[in-house]
Amino acid sequence: MSVIRFFRQNGWLLVGMALLVACTALAVWQVASQRGLDALRQAGQHRLELYAASLDRAIGQYAYLPATLELERDVLDLVAQEQPLGAGVSRRLERLNLRAGTRSIYLLDRHGRVVATSNWNRPDSYMGEDLSYRPYFLAARQRKPGRFFGIGSTRGESGYYLSSPIMSDGELAGVAVVKVGLDRLEQSWATVEVPVMVTDRNGVVILSSVPGWKFGTRLPLDAAQYNALRDSQQYGAETLRPLRMPVQSALDDAAALLQVSMPQEGAGDIRSADGVFLAQDAAFGDTGWTLTVLSPAAPVLFLARVQAALAALAVACLCILLVIWRMRRRQLQDRLEAREALQRAHDELERKVEERTRTLKEAQDELVHAGKLAMIGQLSTGLAHELNQPLTALRTLAGNTVKFMARGELGTAQDNLERIGTLVDGMGALTGQLKQFARKSSGTPGEASVGRAIEHALLLLDQRLRQAGAQVRVTLEDDALAVRCDPNRLEQVLINLVANALDAAAAAPAPMVALNACRRGRQCIIAVRDNGLGLPEPVRERLFEPFFTTKDAGAGLGLGLAISMGIIRDSGGTLEGANHTDGGAVFTIHLPVAGAETCIEA
Ligand code: ADP
Repeated sequence: MSVIRFFRQNGWLLVGMALLVACTALAVWQVASQRGLDALRQAGQHRLELYAASLDRAIGQYAYLPATLELERDVLDLVAQEQPLGAGVSRRLERLNLRAGTRSIYLLDRHGRVVATSNWNRPDSYMGEDLSYRPYFLAARQRKPGRFFGIGSTRGESGYYLSSPIMSDGELAGVAVVKVGLDRLEQSWATVEVPVMVTDRNGVVILSSVPGWKFGTRLPLDAAQYNALRDSQQYGAETLRPLRMPVQSALDDAAALLQVSMPQEGAGDIRSADGVFLAQDAAFGDTGWTLTVLSPAAPVLFLARVQAALAALAVACLCILLVIWRMRRRQLQDRLEAREALQRAHDELERKVEERTRTLKEAQDELVHAGKLAMIGQLSTGLAHELNQPLTALRTLAGNTVKFMARGELGTAQDNLERIGTLVDGMGALTGQLKQFARKSSGTPGEASVGRAIEHALLLLDQRLRQAGAQVRVTLEDDALAVRCDPNRLEQVLINLVANALDAAAAAPAPMVALNACRRGRQCIIAVRDNGLGLPEPVRERLFEPFFTTKDAGAGLGLGLAISMGIIRDSGGTLEGANHTDGGAVFTIHLPVAGAETCIEA
């Protein structure tokens, strides 16, 4: 069965298999990627907690510092009396700032003007600056501690501002502010395994382990938002630009897969490879900040893809094996069916051959019989002549007998009657021979005496032989020589061969027909030779063809040799025609000697 035929017959099966492979791949991909991402989320969650704790530590240690300033008497006096320059307090703030490791510590009066600052003696000192617009001042004015990330308006340094209101007799006297730098925290984050960042409530990245992400925005800002942020000067001169990290798929509110393209600044970093990252967000206290950890998801997804491909491959292999098995089974089935069909055709052929053989045999038998009858027709003229003589003799003898009886010569009459009897016997033998010849053969080979067959054949042709004045020579090696052939048929063959020989020899000045029979091993050879003109090549080639004759119409049917050949062949022998070296034609019969096998076996 061809492969194309198989694909045509099993189209739906193949489509089903393709679907199965695809579904397996999809299912394994989903399970494997889900598992991988779950593990990644767990690790990410753990990191998120660690980073939150470190950020909390970095800021929390300064949480009470602005509030403690309220307890200082001279601080209170300074902000309450609204002195223009608090040089003494500024010096104290400078020492405190140095010891605490903060960026700056300063005091604002209730109008938001700087009255004392730790950087009082530097050229970019805040002293006298109006910071009433700063959110941490606005929060403190409402008696609340202020928390604010921003970039300093003077030095352009980013920092976290912690503010606390300074109260005097229940009234706001001023505001104490501590600015904390988060550089050290950022530096420690620079070495962490996965990128981390902190975005403020505006969605602007204010802290990040990847330097290039700082002051980027998670979501793109429209013009109005951008202008509002620029006017607030919260981010100083920094340009806010959208980060290239579109959401590929959101897993839930706090986690999503992002397609991250790293900024140029992070290109040398080992963690800076672009790709898919699992982003996990966590709110950081009441600051409005969001801490985000980005775990690289590409290896997990790659592993899931490999597992899906392997599973699909395994299922595909199974399917291919199934297809091969089915093909083999179909092939075997086809082969079996073809063999059965062949056997059936063979049986049918055998049956037909048998039937045809039987029909042919019957036809041949009919032909043989017809040939025989034709021959009888030819012989009948001679026979009529043959019988005429005894009949004339009979009439004469009968007449004479009557006369002899009338004269009382009973002895002579008795002699005549005996001669009449002999003549009648002779006539009876002749007609009996003819009757026997005309009879249909039994079909079974039987056993024929060669001498007797020659004798009968010559007897039937006697008249013609005599008419032609032909000399007949019979050489029989052994009188008892017998062959395995139906006697009647052997006779028919001999009559045919002798009649042909007679026809051929008739032209010769002294026509001669010679019959020779001898035994060679298990074969008996009977040769019928004449001294005619022999067999010209074109005649010799077609001798045994049915209806081939060179004789005049009515003289021959051209069936004699064809029938003779059939008879001899059926008896297991051969018949050949050739030219004799001394001239004339010779026809040679080879037949198995009767009882030869039995003798040999015995
Ligand atoms: P028929 O005798 O009716 O022609 P046969 O089959 O007996 O048919 O012979 C076929 C032909 O073979 C003859 O017509 C003759 O030409 C040729 N033939 C047969 N026997 C001889 C022979 N002894 N000599 C020459 N020709 C022969």
